[in-house]
Parts: sequence; C-alpha cells; structure tokens
Amino acid sequence: MNIGVLALQGAVSEHRLALEACGARVRDVRTPRELAEIEGLVVPGGESTTLRHLLRNAGLWESLLVWEKPILGTCAGAILLGRCDDRTLEKMELRLDRNTYGRQQESFEARIKLDVGDSFPGVFIRAPGITATGGTCRPIAWHNGNIVGAVQPPHMALTFHPELTGDRRLHQRWLEMVPR
Ligand code: GLN
Repeated sequence: MNIGVLALQGAVSEHRLALEACGARVRDVRTPRELAEIEGLVVPGGESTTLRHLLRNAGLWESLLVWEKPILGTCAGAILLGRCDDRTLEKMELRLDRNTYGRQQESFEARIKLDVGDSFPGVFIRAPGITATGGTCRPIAWHNGNIVGAVQPPHMALTFHPELTGDRRLHQRWLEMVPR
C-alpha cells in the first residue's frame, strides 16, 4: 500500500515519519503522475490559499477534484477537504471558518477529546474552526466542546497537527480506511 504526502508546503517529513511508524510505504506527491501511483493522500497544513495556487500550478487541482481515494487533511488540508468561503475540493460535508481562533490565541496546545480512547495532544497553528457537519460526516474530536476533527469515510479532516506529536493513533485510524 503506497501512501502519498502532498509535498508542496507544510510538515511533509513529519507526516511521512508518522505514516512510516504505522507501517505504511510513503512517497512524496508533487505531480498528477505521482498521485496516480498512490492509494491514499495526506494533505499537510500550511496556508490554504497558497496551497490552492500551488496545487493549480502543479496540475493537481483538477486531478484531485476527480480523485476518489482516501485523503487525510490537517489544518489547511482540512479546509480544502471541506467547504468554506473560498474554493475547496469539497470532499466532505463539513463547513469551516478560517483562522477561527484569531490573533489572541493563534497557536496553542491543548488536550483534545476523542470519540474513542484517551484524549489526544492537540497542536493548533492558526487553525480553522469546524462550524457544521452534515450527511455521513461524523465528528471524532472536540476541544472545549467545539468540533476539531471529523471523518467521512474514507476521508478525515483535522484542524490540528497530529504529525507534530508522537501520538500516531489518528494517522493509524485514517490508514485503516485505505483499502489494501
Ligand atoms: N490559517 C491557515 C489557513 O487558513 C491554516 C493554518 C495551518 O494549516 N496551520 O489556510
């Protein structure tokens, strides 16, 4: 099973390490040809507007619009999976609000409540907020009662950065949705 990490921006090597720790074979994805060779894609955080431009320039935007394989999107990646005021890939029935925490609390760490198991270390960096989920999209993570993670098989959107912690449970859980 080949898993790709979109390597245009963000914590690419950290995602790679997390996925490899879960036993996945990982490659960087920068072109439509590389996208065609993988079974699941991680879209790291960064800046969603920039990421959209980079995807368009790489010829990956159109490819991803019709791609039906599993995607894990973290932070800016989560924005592109859901819907917001900007154009996104619209893979999940999830509404997001960019930079929801504002300047006062741009970046912070906090324990997150998960639907299963123990709490999770949440690293938030200019994170978006999830304002609504619909259809078969289910919340799986909460901070202070607000949704910060959701699953709509085979996709997972997280507003925080699990790759920056040593906790691999969420990468593992997403990998379990990738057909082998
Ligand atoms: N604030 C960024 C955006 O709106 C996301 C930040 C991140 O990915 N760490 O795209």
